[in-house]
Amino acid sequence: SAKEKGRNNYQFFSKDMAFVAARKTALEGDLNRAVINKEFTLHYQPQILAKTGEIIGMEALIRWQKNDGSIVSPGEFIPLAEETRLILPIGEWVLYTACQQAKKWHDDGNSHLKLAVNLSSLQFMHDDLITTIQKVLKTTGFKASSLELEITESVVLDDAEKAISRMQTLREIGVQIAIDDFGTGYSSLSYLKRFPLNNLKIAQPFVQDMATNPRDKSLVEAIIFIAHSLDMSVIAEGVETEEQLALLQDLGCDEIQGFLFSRPLPVAHFTKLLMTGVTPVKVI
Ligand code: C2E
Ligand code: MG
Ligand code: MG
Ligand code: MG
Repeated sequence: SAKEKGRNNYQFFSKDMAFVAARKTALEGDLNRAVINKEFTLHYQPQILAKTGEIIGMEALIRWQKNDGSIVSPGEFIPLAEETRLILPIGEWVLYTACQQAKKWHDDGNSHLKLAVNLSSLQFMHDDLITTIQKVLKTTGFKASSLELEITESVVLDDAEKAISRMQTLREIGVQIAIDDFGTGYSSLSYLKRFPLNNLKIAQPFVQDMATNPRDKSLVEAIIFIAHSLDMSVIAEGVETEEQLALLQDLGCDEIQGFLFSRPLPVAHFTKLLMTGVTPVKVI
């Protein structure tokens, strides 16, 4: 009967849910241990000045390597880390480790490099953020003006006023702020007007389709125009082809980040790259 079927469906559904929940609980336990055992590392992806091809900075990107050697991507564990609030200790570790490393690069003759660090909404809105940042800058000796925090448009969903005042405090300290994945969230022109932002990162989907879809190209052009009008610089993420690069240079995009120049690299590789510089590579 329909009723029985319904019951069956329900059973399937609940088994499914139990499975998903069990996986999540397992991953949660792993994540807890990962924080205690420090199983995280940072990779760094160069950011390139579009006009000259010079490396002007790097984005720190977290990697979780489990004991068995397997890598869990941030796309999978960052949302869980946010849900469990483990992102707070993880995020502090990221900030400290990245600033400490970038300070070494500065001291080794690359003092022009800007360091970009991703912050989750929870981190950004947390009461301790400013204290944490000041503590990290003081302990590592890293220059505030070389640090750029990447936040997404979602930070303003809860409390726009608080987000804006937080951004202002960060700017007073000298830290730069970038909007990450611009165009994929709840972009609003009024936010752009009200946020004290330095840098706008055009989201990958626009960049990746701009060479094949004129509408994406128009959007990228408009985003660059608006950003420049508001005194912000623009970085394109996910640049993979020469064609995309040429278009972006043509449109006056300031900075480029993507596999065309380099994937995110472990510290030793990135250090080598600083000596050799980057040249576009074919992305397969
Ligand atoms: P995101 O901040 O937008 O970082 C860019 C992502 O695009 C990175 O993925 C990077 O490896 C990837 N990428 C760069 N160039 C290309 C390209 O040319 N083609 C393609 N297909 N991808 C490219 P990743 O490292 O897996 O990070 C994913 C997301 O996880 C990040 O997106 C960021 O939102 C989050 N994340 C990473 N590290 C951290 C962290 O330390 N803290 C926080 N809160 N979030 C992080
Ligand atoms: Mg980012
Ligand atoms: Mg990004
Ligand atoms: Mg992004």
